[in-house]
Amino acid sequence: MDLLDDSIVPEKARPVKQEAREFAAEHIEPNAEEYFERGEYPWDILEKGMEAGLVGQSISEEYGGRGFSLTEMLAIAEEFYRADAGIALSLQLAAFGTNILEEHGTEAQKAEYLEPVAANEQISGLAVSEPDTGSDMAGMSTSAEKDGDEWVLNGEKYWVGNGVEADWVTVYAKTGDDPDNRYGNYSVFIVPTDAPGYHAEHIPEKMCYRASKQAHITFDDCRIPEENLIGAEGAGFYMVAGFFNHGRTVVAGHGLGLAAAAIEEASAFVHDREAFGRTVDEFQAVQHDLADMRLEFESARSLAWRAAEKVENDDYPGYWAALAKTRATEAATECAEIGMQLHGGRSVLEENKISRVYRDARVPVIYEGANPIQRNLIYRQAPR
Ligand SMILES: Cc1cc2nc3c(=O)[nH]c(=O)nc-3n(C[C@H](O)[C@H](O)[C@H](O)COP(=O)(O)OP(=O)(O)OC[C@H]3O[C@@H](n4cnc5c(N)ncnc54)[C@H](O)[C@@H]3O)c2cc1C
Repeated sequence: MDLLDDSIVPEKARPVKQEAREFAAEHIEPNAEEYFERGEYPWDILEKGMEAGLVGQSISEEYGGRGFSLTEMLAIAEEFYRADAGIALSLQLAAFGTNILEEHGTEAQKAEYLEPVAANEQISGLAVSEPDTGSDMAGMSTSAEKDGDEWVLNGEKYWVGNGVEADWVTVYAKTGDDPDNRYGNYSVFIVPTDAPGYHAEHIPEKMCYRASKQAHITFDDCRIPEENLIGAEGAGFYMVAGFFNHGRTVVAGHGLGLAAAAIEEASAFVHDREAFGRTVDEFQAVQHDLADMRLEFESARSLAWRAAEKVENDDYPGYWAALAKTRATEAATECAEIGMQLHGGRSVLEENKISRVYRDARVPVIYEGANPIQRNLIYRQAPR
């Protein structure tokens, strides 16, 4: 059974999908349980991913990366998340937010901050969410005020992947206060994590995604040079929203990888497990459960790959990205739920991968915009 077969994947993305599959089999899958238990950042696997040319490489060749396209990123995501979501997120977030810099930054900013990430000398992060809200992007309160030739940041960010580990983070902050232009009040900045007034600590231990680390950042009169503003002042909302169209399509790959893992685990278990004198997979009700998992998975996967093409072609990208993210991440929760049931009591043993998949599947339905927000976008941005 090869659920993540490449027949649906555009030809140009197949070689890197194979690279990601081999890397996941050698370095992610065998270490997943141990990292989950220890709850530590997987520095050694990150370094191996860098050596393999699979980390930070969505940055274009012009700036030293491999220029992975959206479909290539989706192909990598499917393979990595099937092996382990926590490690996968750490590998993927090493260049989080760099698309914004590449698209909107100056050549000087790219030379100083983008190229070191492509060269795997630095890692980045993206700080949007706050302790009081993650969904309302026009309601965030971290501020940036101009003082001479510097910007001064005050406020807090929460859930920031690599907020402790990164060399710099892209920060979304309020620079205006116009009630008639809520979406024009925000800007994005490059903030080095050693800037004065930048403080970050890991958030409390999580029940899932334990090999990835998120931070609570406090900006306390944090000063950065004026040239660290990315793009135009007041354009931040649309810059981040545009980036999320790309990111959410990749998050569909997180869901597909997790759903594939749940199906594989459940199928293997019911094939071996005996009850009432036969293997459990001989019961028709169990076969229907397995059929339902396939229905969830295959329909989500078809949609995700169709959406990737649409987003790449800038054809109603907000609509297609939200469709793909919602469908695939909910396929993951559904498949994980059925997978747990089919494992019976053994489902709750930590040593069984299904228990990790079940917990991890709770996250992609939330991050990069909780699914109710995606449904808002689907309704509002549908072609009419
Ligand atoms: C493991 C992990 C990693 C993350 N990494 C990052 C990161 O690197 N950078 C970053 O900036 N953020 C990150 N996040 C944060 C994530 O994007 C937010 O958690 C998410 O956007 C939801 O925001 P919230 O948690 O504040 O929920 P809230 O905004 O408080 O919403 C709570 C719930 O209310 C409901 N809701 C809210 N608004 C609406 C509405 N308009 N309509 C219908 N229902 C609604 C939804 O069900 C939602 O889940 C991460 C989160 C997790 C769990």
